[in-house]
Amino acid sequence: MPGVLGRAKWSKGQPVVSLMNPMVPVRWITIHHDGMTPFVATDERSSAGRIELIRNGHRGKGWGDIGYHFAIDRAGRVWEGRPLKWQGAHVKDHNEGNIGILVIGNFDEQSPSAMQLKALEKQVKMVMLKYKIPASRVKTHREWAGAKTACPGKSLQNYVTGWRSRGIKA
Ligand SMILES: [Zn+2]
Repeated sequence: MPGVLGRAKWSKGQPVVSLMNPMVPVRWITIHHDGMTPFVATDERSSAGRIELIRNGHRGKGWGDIGYHFAIDRAGRVWEGRPLKWQGAHVKDHNEGNIGILVIGNFDEQSPSAMQLKALEKQVKMVMLKYKIPASRVKTHREWAGAKTACPGKSLQNYVTGWRSRGIKA
C-alpha cells in the first residue's frame, strides 16, 4: 500500500508460515493500541524498536508473526506488520477477514498525537476503499462482543467514537 514502510525496516524475523492462516475475504477493520508503557518518541528507530518488541511478544505467545497488519507511530508513519495475505491475530475468535491496525502507545495513559490520528484516518479509509468495507465494520478492539480488554485505551476510544459520530467515510 502506498506510503507504508515495509517490514524489512523494522523486523528482525520472518513470519512463520506454518503458524498462520491465509487471509479470507476482508470484512472488518479493528483499531488497537499496544497498551504498554506510554510512548512519546517520534524517530523512526524508536518506532521500529517498539514494533519489533511487540512482534517478539507475539512470537512468544506462539503466534507466527506480529498480530497486527499495520502500525501507526507517533509521527504518523504507517508501518507494515503481518503481511495482508495472512490472517491476523488481534481479536480473540474474530480474526477471520479482520485487518488489525495498531496505534502505537498506551491511550489509557496518554493521548494519540495529531499526526497519529491523521495517519490513522487515512489508513482506515485506504483499507475501507481497497476492500469495500462499510463504516459499520470499522471497530475498536473493545467493541467486539466478548472482548475483555480496555483496548484501544480511553483517549483513542473517545476519538474513534467522535469520528464515528462525524461519519467515517472512505
Ligand atoms: Zn487490541
